[in-house]
Amino acid sequence: MRITMIGSGYVGLVSGACFSDFGHDVVCVDKDETKIAALEAGRMPIFEPGLEQLVATNVAAGRLRFTTDLAGAVAGADAVFIAVGTPSRRGDGHADLSYVFAATEEIADAMTGPAVVVTKSTVPVGTGDRVEAILRERSPDLDLAVVSNPEFLREGAAIGDFKRPDRIVIGTEDERAREVMRAVYRPLYLGESPLVFTGRRTSELIKYAANAFLATKITFINEIADLCEAVGADVQDVARGIGLDNRIGKKFLHAGPGYGGSCFPKDTLALLKTAEDYETPIQIVEAVVKVNDSRKRAMGRKVLHALGAPDADVRGKTVALLGLTFKPNTDDMRDAPSIAIATALGDAGVAVRGYDPEGIESAKEVMPDITYCRDAYEAATGADAVVIVTEWDAFRALDLTRLKQVMTAPVMVDLRNVYRRDIVEAAGFAYTAVGR
Ligand code: NAD
Repeated sequence: MRITMIGSGYVGLVSGACFSDFGHDVVCVDKDETKIAALEAGRMPIFEPGLEQLVATNVAAGRLRFTTDLAGAVAGADAVFIAVGTPSRRGDGHADLSYVFAATEEIADAMTGPAVVVTKSTVPVGTGDRVEAILRERSPDLDLAVVSNPEFLREGAAIGDFKRPDRIVIGTEDERAREVMRAVYRPLYLGESPLVFTGRRTSELIKYAANAFLATKITFINEIADLCEAVGADVQDVARGIGLDNRIGKKFLHAGPGYGGSCFPKDTLALLKTAEDYETPIQIVEAVVKVNDSRKRAMGRKVLHALGAPDADVRGKTVALLGLTFKPNTDDMRDAPSIAIATALGDAGVAVRGYDPEGIESAKEVMPDITYCRDAYEAATGADAVVIVTEWDAFRALDLTRLKQVMTAPVMVDLRNVYRRDIVEAAGFAYTAVGR
């Protein structure tokens, strides 16, 4: 199959590289010339474990290439995937579809033969109808079908998720398009097919419902964590105690600083906007968004309390933030909880030092005012508290003796519940966790 991927970011690049690894002939397009130049030179524009090797292998095999020439890449493709960004629209929280529609117009002008256009970007219900209308208006004589095929991969584990998905959702009523999509995904599975065929609008909604459900699960356990702190219970035991029930499931029950990242915050907001437009409010998700927003600020206050506020004056103190990205194994800083925490600390007159294994370059763009360090110990040097914001492997077995020696005061705030209280306290630290 000849596959064209429009947009070579976290989703487009990983999907394109994986499709080529399964033997398809793939062209990844991006309008960002520096991104394409880097990829052509073998440099990855993002950090994703295993990606560099996967790309190198498939480029060498002649199955994967990169270009800024959308028209050249679209002509003759069996399937054209749209994987451009759909961020929150400034001001109102609707998904900003300008990149999707701009890409659609370019595709319409470039298509030459029968083609299947697939929206992999996360787009609100009804977007496929609008994409199809644009294509038909600009290229009325072409045989075309528009398919919704939302992506569920997680950054940091993207290649494994893409290659071994729990399910692949394909939304189209067009039988020829279904055949093309079957052929595109056939190499991914042996035996039982994880393909879920459904209508296009249903498929679009599945993606938002999935993300909103996961955001709800996280927010639920976070509120239970607050209650645990108030009543003297342990949220990790509660999570285990409920998660072993198969109806509930163990995943997404880790209490922490609130969800962030490039998907949950914007997708929950966009779902609420769709619900509002159709006068069908989803109050549970409204609550989730509200609770999560206030939680990020509350985490800043939690750190200030660990420093002694409000009784002590915290102005002039120093805090080390370990882990700045929204989760481990990515360099993605979009909506990371570290941003709200650093802002709350800065507002209180606290100096912030930070370290992240892969995210420092992207962190500098959103947090230019903090001091960046080369490792956890350099960040902790002279600090009055160290805060584990993201549970990178590098922070899971810190040398507590060394950490204490370099710090001004031995205070640890563990927002991911990485450590055992007895061990940290035995090392001489004052220890604050989440829900324990
Ligand atoms: P991204 O910002 O990393 O990548 C988008 C890319 O599209 C950018 O490189 C941009 O330059 C390019 N682009 C924009 N307009 C273009 C055009 N007209 N022609 C060519 N290239 C163009 O975004 P992402 O994180 O990969 O997300 C893409 C979509 O996938 C979003 O809708 C997102 O919600 C969804 N999604 C993301 C994830 C994730 O973990 N990041 C997971 C599932 C779904």
